[in-house]
Formats: sequence, structure tokens, C-alpha cells
Amino acid sequence: MFMAKAYSAVSATSPLASAQIPRRDPTPRDVRIEILYCGICHSDLHAVRDEWRNVMPTVYPIVPGHEIVGRVARVGSAVPQFKPGDLVGVGCLVDSDHSCPNCRDGLEQLCPNQTLTFNSPDKHKTAPVTYGGYSESIVVDEHFVLHVPPHLDLAGVAPLLCAGITTYSPMRRWGDIQGKKIGVVGLGGLGHMGVKFARAFGAQVVVFTTSPGKKADALRLGADAVVLSTNPEEMRQHAGSFDFILDTIAADHDINAFINMLGRDGNITLVGAPEKPLAVSAFALLFGRRSLSGSIIGGLTETQEMLDFCGTHNITADVEVIPIQEVNAAYERLAKSDVKYRFAIDMASIKSA
Ligand code: NAP
Ligand code: ZN
Repeated sequence: MFMAKAYSAVSATSPLASAQIPRRDPTPRDVRIEILYCGICHSDLHAVRDEWRNVMPTVYPIVPGHEIVGRVARVGSAVPQFKPGDLVGVGCLVDSDHSCPNCRDGLEQLCPNQTLTFNSPDKHKTAPVTYGGYSESIVVDEHFVLHVPPHLDLAGVAPLLCAGITTYSPMRRWGDIQGKKIGVVGLGGLGHMGVKFARAFGAQVVVFTTSPGKKADALRLGADAVVLSTNPEEMRQHAGSFDFILDTIAADHDINAFINMLGRDGNITLVGAPEKPLAVSAFALLFGRRSLSGSIIGGLTETQEMLDFCGTHNITADVEVIPIQEVNAAYERLAKSDVKYRFAIDMASIKSA
């Protein structure tokens, strides 16, 4: 075991602050990674503030962070596919049971015995729960470590590990969306990646936003049109016309307004994870034979496919890079939907924390 610098919160109302955490010495299957950048996902904020207490209560202290890019420092004796110096990524998962039907199908994100990157029981007993990427280093089973295309901007790659795969996977699952009319609801970390992927897949992309100030950015990011969802007239113009809608909203909202945007057999997929249950109108689904689904990140094979796709198409997140000392101010801005469009922590800053 060794100690690493990290940022942690000790309660739902405490700020994140500098701390020392234990990390295990690499087992034969492990990769030790020195972290270069870690994205700030809204899930970090939900967890730090215990907003998911009814589903997955937070164990304190918590070290969040699951959009990790770093460099391999050491590998275990049974790790053939990585070597010191390699650029790698780690997302929301650091382990699973490797044997259930979902794992066998490459759907580790659906494994009932998965280990999340933070706030999951630590199988190795190094600590009560796993500690995430707001840290100078992390030790991860090689199956959950990904190859990063080296020519991409690394700060912009970090958010691909969660925001990227979470939007890529449901669009891929929906099938060939070339020429289809696709809606992306909420222009935040996930939403702006959804726009980039939908565009790259050849879809007609419409962004729904509550922020008039994001309209120009939505078009720059690749949207064909932008709808201010608080304007009933703008909403009416698109009613009943979408093939597929990705809902990334992090807070309570009227999902029926977006279900009603779908055409016949259209699907709305929820990736946003608001604290409170959403009220769904049966009639909005019945008329039009529409469906409502959920999706969570993606499996490891698909995450590598997404990273390779981003390498080929030069896709990265639009990031505001911050030192870790500014993380609490960044959370305040994230809570107000005021980020363009993902914060990425430059982990070199932790050396002076
Ligand atoms: P984010 O950057 O805060 O973006 C969320 C966007 O939702 C905001 O930028 C805002 O967009 C819109 N929004 C926020 N509050 C709203 C409200 N009250 N009414 C309407 N729209 C509102 O968050 P994120 O990191 O993209 O994460 C989004 C959600 O996905 C979070 O709940 C997160 O936990 C969840 N998540 C799920 C997965 C998964 O695997 N399913 C993975 C990662 C994250 P506008 O300003 O454009 O309106
Ligand atoms: Zn996330």
C-alpha cells in the first residue's frame, strides 16, 4: 500500500479539500496510473452532496472522479497490453465479476457485481470504498484500463471516459441514425458530446436548452437547430417530429414535453439521473407508440471503440481546465449549468495542494 494525494469531502455539506488516501500496490493484474487530467461530471456533484441517497447513498469521505486520463507508471506481471509511459483512460468502472451473462457479452456496465470507480465497496480492502480520480494516482485492474489516442488533446479526452461513452452508446444502440432527426436535451457535459456524436453519425441534430446564451454554441458544436425549451411556440414547431431524443437533464423536469416531440415509434432515452422520480404521462407514450428507455455508460469494448472513433474523427470535449484548488467554485458553477462544457482538472496542480 502507498499513500496518494487526493481531494475528498467528509460530508454532504463539506467542501472538497486536500487529503491523503491509501492505494494498493499493483497486483499481477493491475496498472498503476499517474493521473494527468480528471473531468468533473455532474454525477460527482450528485454523489458528493448525497443527492442519490435513496438509491446509492454516499460513504464519506468520498473522492469523486471517473473521467481519468493518465500515464502508466507500473504494471503487474500479468499485464501484457500496457507498459510504463502509455497514455491510458479509466471511466466509471474499475471492476466487475467478469463471469455473469452481461460481462460475457461485454456489458460490464450492467454487471450486478460491478465496482464503480468511487463509492463502491473496495474488494481489495485498501479502504472501505473505492476512491476516484481527484487524485495524483490510481491502481486499476487492466481490463478496465483503455488505450487513449495519443494525438488528441488530453484534457479534452478525459470527459470522453464518461460523458463520451454515455452519449455514444445509446445512439449506437438505436441503430443507424444517419439522416434521422435526433434531439439532445440539455447542453452540458453529456449534451455537448451528444451533439458532436450525432453530427458525426450524420444525423439531423436539434438541441433543447433552457439557456438562451448557449444557442450560438449549440450551432457551433454541430446542431442544425436549437430550441429554447421554455418557449412554447418554439417547442410547438417540432412536436411529433423526432426519431430519437437523448435526455441529459440533471434535475427535475417535465419529460412529457419531450416525449411529445417524438414521432411514431420514436424513443426517448434517459441518461440524466435527477434526484427525484420523473412523472411520466401514459398518454404521451400511448399515442404514437413511443418508448422511454434508460442507458448507463457503456461496456469496455464499446468504450475503446468510442475512443478510437474520437481519434479517427478528432473529437474531444470542450473543456475549461482548472487547478484542483478551484474545484469547489467549479461545483457551484456546474450546479447552475454554467460550464462550457466540461471542467477538467489539471492534476499537476495537486502537487502543491
Ligand atoms: P451538466 O453538465 O450539469 O449538464 C446538464 C444540463 O441539463 C445543463 O447544462 C442544463 O442544460 C440542463 N439542466 C440542468 N438543470 C435543468 C433544469 N432544472 N431543467 C431543465 N434543464 C436543466 O451535467 P452532465 O455532467 O452532463 O450530467 C447530466 C446528468 O447525467 C446528471 O444527472 C448525471 O448524473 C447524469 N449522468 C448519467 C450517466 C449515465 O451513465 N446514465 C453518466 C454520466 C452522467 P441547458 O443549460 O442547455 O438547459
Ligand atoms: Zn460521469
